[in-house]
Amino acid sequence: MKAFYTDHYVLPLPPGHRFPMEKYSQLRDLVTQLEGIELVEAPAVTDTQILYAHDPSYLMKVIAGDLSTKEQQEIGFPWSEKMVERSRRSAGATVAAAKAALDEGLAVNLAGGTHHAYRNMGSGFCVFNDSAIAARALQKEVNSTLKVAIVDLDVHQGNGTASILQHDKSIFTLSIHGENNFPFTKEQSDLDIGLPNGCKDEDYLKALDQGLEMLDTFIPDFIIYLAGADPHEGDRLGKLDISKVGMRQRDERVFKYGADRQIPIAFSMAGGYGKEICTTVDIHFQTIQTALQFTTAS
Ligand SMILES: [Zn+2]
Repeated sequence: MKAFYTDHYVLPLPPGHRFPMEKYSQLRDLVTQLEGIELVEAPAVTDTQILYAHDPSYLMKVIAGDLSTKEQQEIGFPWSEKMVERSRRSAGATVAAAKAALDEGLAVNLAGGTHHAYRNMGSGFCVFNDSAIAARALQKEVNSTLKVAIVDLDVHQGNGTASILQHDKSIFTLSIHGENNFPFTKEQSDLDIGLPNGCKDEDYLKALDQGLEMLDTFIPDFIIYLAGADPHEGDRLGKLDISKVGMRQRDERVFKYGADRQIPIAFSMAGGYGKEICTTVDIHFQTIQTALQFTTAS
């Protein structure tokens, strides 16, 4: 399974910044030890590809560093050329993973899942919406009839993705998230399942089963899966109470769904803000190990 990495494109953050940038290099260190993984440096997403999901005026502002203070605050990162490059690589990794998965069944972006980015603005540590870009890149560059489902299991709603793809019937957006968590104004996905604070494994997995059942009515040819680590009980921001075993069962359900129906899956790590960074890395790592079990089976 190909794993696309971007962790060497570090964006400069002020000391004490709450974004856990180190988790990506720690994850790659662990993944390097796995058999069956081919690590690949992520290509940068092109301007043309970014425009599949974003307004030209927004792209130009990002490239030129012309975002207003308010727009930068909404993103949560200080602007720098390195921020632009990292954002391009992170989205490029999801596009590359999507194309690799189309050929090989499964592929992963060791970062990505930047689902809060809207057509004309960034938000919540997200500059470009990698899932929307990748879904459209498959359709525009590989197969125009491809039906794509975006299965977003990050604990925060995929508001940017829902908004960008709102009127696009060829892409199904599913978001299972904490109802009382950021973003506090939700957008409408094709299917939203909002969970209460403190939600535990059983209810979480039940919600996922319902969500996956709904996918059967759409019949996707391809799945982009945001395997956020932030529903985990050890997360600072998640507000849910999902055990490590529950997180594994979640991943197994998604990968099994794809394997049973021969639907390729590209997946990204998305959020994870563990009280201890190693807890988050451990959950992301578990997702990759779980996926590997499905590569041998297919
Ligand atoms: Zn999140």
